[in-house]
Amino acid sequence: MISDNVNGNLISTARFEAWAEGTLAQLATALQTPDLTLGHLEELLQAQAARLMLPILRAAAQKLADRQPFCCPHCQTPLRLHEAGRGRHLDVVFGSMPLTRDYGWCPKCRTYHAPADQALGLQAKAPASPKVQEIAALLSVRGPYHAGAEDARRLSGLEFSAASLHREAQRQGQRALQLRQQDVERSKTMAGVAELSARSGTQHLAPFTLIIQMDAWNIRERDHWGETQALRKQQLDTQRWHWVFTGTLFRLDQRGETAGQRRVITQRGYVATRQSLESFTHQIYTEALLRGLLQAQTVLILGDGAIWIWNLADSRFRGAKQRVDLFHVKEHLHELARTLYGANTPEAQAWLKPLLHYLDQRKDGALDVLEHLQGLKTTLQQMTDTQKADLERQVGYFTTHRQRMDYKAGRKLGEPVGSGVVESTARQYQSRFKCTGQFWTPEGDETLLALATLKRNERWHLLYPHSLRASAVENAN
Ligand SMILES: [Zn+2]
Repeated sequence: MISDNVNGNLISTARFEAWAEGTLAQLATALQTPDLTLGHLEELLQAQAARLMLPILRAAAQKLADRQPFCCPHCQTPLRLHEAGRGRHLDVVFGSMPLTRDYGWCPKCRTYHAPADQALGLQAKAPASPKVQEIAALLSVRGPYHAGAEDARRLSGLEFSAASLHREAQRQGQRALQLRQQDVERSKTMAGVAELSARSGTQHLAPFTLIIQMDAWNIRERDHWGETQALRKQQLDTQRWHWVFTGTLFRLDQRGETAGQRRVITQRGYVATRQSLESFTHQIYTEALLRGLLQAQTVLILGDGAIWIWNLADSRFRGAKQRVDLFHVKEHLHELARTLYGANTPEAQAWLKPLLHYLDQRKDGALDVLEHLQGLKTTLQQMTDTQKADLERQVGYFTTHRQRMDYKAGRKLGEPVGSGVVESTARQYQSRFKCTGQFWTPEGDETLLALATLKRNERWHLLYPHSLRASAVENAN
């Protein structure tokens, strides 16, 4: 035996030597095979390494399980032993292995517990080890389940099917949802608000501007799973589109430019939900607290003309500066130019040019545009009904949003004049959630949205503490 003190009796010398002998013999045989590449050697040794590691990990995991105090994980009351050494099966990165741990009854909570499970990072009725949970979560956030299952097999040797990957991702998404909900609940009490605010780490910063951008996009969901064929025969639609509300938050000083003049934001907060607008409102407020809402000298909200954005801004971010995306505003003028003067005509161009300039360059440019539009009602003779209606619509738009069009002043302060950042955020979410031929159930997409958002918010370590430990260990070396 290798000395107990050093190796904790995790593997016997005999076993280790047998492994080494077997591996070297396999290598020798392999080296005689024609057309052998380095890749073949890597595959062989990866599989052999897993064979060695599995029993070591099993012994170490058992030690970890055995040393856990036999107390209720919720109230710390000593448990009454119900079954000693109850077994369960685990999927770990090296394969499958059994584990035993004590199982008991908490008289206070009136529930059964296996405290070792909690300490090891295992979930009830799920075989995935923490590392396997993380791999499932990561693959599912990045792409479709069938592709993720295939990648897992090739890269790590994990035997996921699309269905088992889906199940595991849902389980992890549920955990992400719980974390999110805990923070939302905190945002509803004074003490909780203070706690979220403290977590922002912005207390000692020089005065800063917090930017909040909001947008919404559509996700395709399907009802009546499994009944599609029958319903299609009756010509009933099983698909529908559902809004996903999205927000992104960052400090103005966190926005910079790369050497290639590409805009980058070093740290950002994210919110994405297909739940109600009310739920989104709570979530974005919570995330804003976590990003320094209470410490910010200026809060700037950006979005397109969608009225829900501005209602939300008024109700939840009172006193914040509001700015409607310049590109969208210009689109409104382009549209009116087409209606009044025809698409791409010289007249349309000539009419547009000064108006676009007012918006960009004048202090009260939006007011100038509005006055010009009002004037058109009398100066333009013989408008068609369509033209009249469009003009009226744009006058309404500029009247509603005029105060949100301070582009010249915004530029002077180095602030964004558009909501391009959240639009690109929405596109990034869509590249996962709008894959061709993909449908989502309301539960399925919300859990995965929560998981993807947890990742984006750099809170991955809250579910997978080992991910933080790994990078800390690497940095120490
Ligand atoms: Zn208890």
